[in-house]
Amino acid sequence: MLNKTKRLFTSLLPVDPDRTGACNRCGACCKLPYPCPFLRFDDEGLSSCAVYAIRPPSCRKYPRVASEQLTPQQCGYSFAAVDEGVTDGIGLDPLTDPL
Ligand code: SF4
Repeated sequence: MLNKTKRLFTSLLPVDPDRTGACNRCGACCKLPYPCPFLRFDDEGLSSCAVYAIRPPSCRKYPRVASEQLTPQQCGYSFAAVDEGVTDGIGLDPLTDPL
């Protein structure tokens, strides 16, 4: 619930430009921390939102940044900097590691 509250407040901030991929309609983010009453699944198991056109920014932008992505195993989105092991520059060799 704490993560959901945090995402509510940070949802007005921009999406990380390093985010890549696309939603695969797994519906995992719509169950954080409990299944949303507007979550629907079709016969093929693909999720949809019953109020998609007016969904709140926290849903619209999920996952906004890597630190707020709580469903990395299922989600079709990823973050280039995290995938490359470059998250904050700490622990990198300035002579060999690109920043
Ligand atoms: S977890 Fe990611 S891929 Fe799954 S429904 Fe949410 S945004 Fe889409």
